[in-house]
Amino acid sequence: MKETVEAKLGLLTYKKGPETHISIGDPNICASQCPDKPCATVCPAKVYEWEEHSKKILVAYENCIECGACRMICPFQNIKCDWPNGGFGVQYQYG
Ligand code: SF4
Ligand code: SF4
Repeated sequence: MKETVEAKLGLLTYKKGPETHISIGDPNICASQCPDKPCATVCPAKVYEWEEHSKKILVAYENCIECGACRMICPFQNIKCDWPNGGFGVQYQYG
């Protein structure tokens, strides 16, 4: 049986850091120059969500699995995504 991405993400454990490790540079760029908003579709952990009424991208940084895709996909390099401080963020199991 093929496992879904959502099911696999559910196997991960996370330790939420005290501060976000992801920020959006200029929200006006998201609202006025980026109609497709690829961050909201590319992130496998659904960290980014376009909120129509506030015209902003919401960032659920605590769900980040540190894959790095958003660092490449934003056509305006409008995402600053570092890695959480040591001991925080997603935890993978090996073996
Ligand atoms: S891809 Fe970049 S510019 Fe477009 S909505 Fe996301 S953060 Fe904003
Ligand atoms: S690093 Fe990956 S999981 Fe984290 S916000 Fe970017 S695309 Fe999503």
